[in-house]
Amino acid sequence: MTELKNLIDDDKQKPERRIPALAVSRGVGIGRIVFLHGQKRQFFRIDLPDGQIDDELDRFRSAVNECRDQLKKLAAPKQHKEPNQPVSSIFGVHLLIIEESSLVGKIETAIRDRKVNAEWALKIVSDQYLERQGAVADLHFREKYLDIEDVSERILTSLLGSPSSTQREYYGAIVAARELRPSAILELIKTKPAAIITERGGWTSHTSILAREFNVPMASGLKNLDKVLKHGDRVIVDGIGGEVIVDPRTETVEHFALVKDVFIDPDEFTFDETTPATTADGTEITIRANVDVPEAYQLASHFGADGIGLFRSESLITRPGTIPSEDEQVAAYHQIAEAAGDSGVNIRTFDIGVDQLGQGMYSTERNPALGLRAIRLFLSEPDEFKTQIRAILRSSHNQKINILLPMVSGVGDVIRCREIIDDVRKDLSKSGTAMGDPQIGAMIEVPSAVFMAEEIGAKVDFFCLGTNDLVQYLLAIDRDNDSVSEWYQTLHPAVLRAITDIIFAGKNNGIPVVVCGEMAGSAFYVPVLIGLGLVEFSMNVNSIQEIRRLIAGIKLTDAVELVNQVKLCETTADTESVLRSYYLEHWKDLFPIGLLGPEPQ
Ligand code: PEP
Ligand code: MG
Repeated sequence: MTELKNLIDDDKQKPERRIPALAVSRGVGIGRIVFLHGQKRQFFRIDLPDGQIDDELDRFRSAVNECRDQLKKLAAPKQHKEPNQPVSSIFGVHLLIIEESSLVGKIETAIRDRKVNAEWALKIVSDQYLERQGAVADLHFREKYLDIEDVSERILTSLLGSPSSTQREYYGAIVAARELRPSAILELIKTKPAAIITERGGWTSHTSILAREFNVPMASGLKNLDKVLKHGDRVIVDGIGGEVIVDPRTETVEHFALVKDVFIDPDEFTFDETTPATTADGTEITIRANVDVPEAYQLASHFGADGIGLFRSESLITRPGTIPSEDEQVAAYHQIAEAAGDSGVNIRTFDIGVDQLGQGMYSTERNPALGLRAIRLFLSEPDEFKTQIRAILRSSHNQKINILLPMVSGVGDVIRCREIIDDVRKDLSKSGTAMGDPQIGAMIEVPSAVFMAEEIGAKVDFFCLGTNDLVQYLLAIDRDNDSVSEWYQTLHPAVLRAITDIIFAGKNNGIPVVVCGEMAGSAFYVPVLIGLGLVEFSMNVNSIQEIRRLIAGIKLTDAVELVNQVKLCETTADTESVLRSYYLEHWKDLFPIGLLGPEPQ
């Protein structure tokens, strides 16, 4: 309330500005802008009181020491994987930069003189280098600056792994960033921001998914974010209508303060649902939860979730290059399985790209979404894969855990994964380790897997339908790029045909098909999925109540009839229009306010 008053009092007749944005997590946030900088590794600018400067210098020096140790190891030629590459000499140069150049000293001076956190000081200094680099014509010297950039990145990585005491100051702020990495948002959630604004990121980007999971209002698609907003700006994020309001007038703040209160705080929720979700004509629909932290499942089970349909195990990787050890993974899988109880959890093996493996392992990819990622990456790094499988198998003793393979592109991937899983199982049995018998599932999210679903289905125990990626890969649309979001069409007739084929392949093989992409938790799509014949949905915790209510209000027979009409549509626009008209005419009250748009006159 004080913050609200502060925002109103500050209404110094600056004209209110309204910037259209994409609403990707429902809710309203009111507060002041705090920028999160950096792309790969993200950080805030923090102004330090005099008493904290020495601690910050110590923090910076230990990060530098950590980098020095890493570089000494990497510079030793025998230890690197690719002997033909002169990598050791590159790391030798980086070591020299740390030990003998003025970089470290300049950053220390910036911390001391500007009284800022080490990350910000590093940004000031590396921006200066970058500026000079632009002015240098000589290629050789330009390359030197690239080395400095690499070293700065390495120091930043170490800094972000060391505890920073000042993060909590951002409680209640509106965090603005060009792009937010999922690991950054998991960290950020702890500081309870009022809302998030980003330049990049659509409805199905992991950041938006997490914002919804943690009930943080979020708007994305704000072009030139660092030009239209500045640190300390008073802002309202309207994550319902899709707008960012800068320097709001007093009446606007008061209006949105009321809208904000309409949203339920999940902590205050007391509802306990024990019956399965059932359509009005008696078809049972299984609702599971997509959960990234075990605590979130408590709320999900209050809402009647029957287990965890998708645990994205990469949420355990808090920063690039820090894949948890086998024992750390065992502890985490135990916790999540315990939370899920008898209903069980599908642990998806790491769905990451090479950038998350750490520096120096692989060079940057031009097309990471099509690159060495998910199961492809771990078939190329079998030791890491074996570690994860060992951890999952060890945790499965007396716990209901299944293994889910991401981005399977054909039968060959499944065969290779199964061989590894069998080998690990044999080794563990030989050493007398107790294990359960996890089922093995495949994410169906790549077009080739759709065409081969029949054959893949014969080799796995269940399918998870990953609609977020299925739409991305089928329509060749980057799901994180809002410039092409118009073409990211979940209801494209090709997507619906693909889903029909997957359901068919699941039925023929007698295996369940669980929808676990964002489509499963979106009211507009659920009647279509039910009409197509799907009966298992795994969704964001905060969608469960809304979807249960919708299911209870519709009949399977009507949904089937509706899908028959939809199947005749040749364009997404026609499909959406058929659905909207039907919903408005028959099920209007089952949808959240505003979702169906204005009623035709
Ligand atoms: C999907 O692709 O639909 C999915 C569930 O996985 P993710 O969003 O993690 O890629
Ligand atoms: Mg996916």
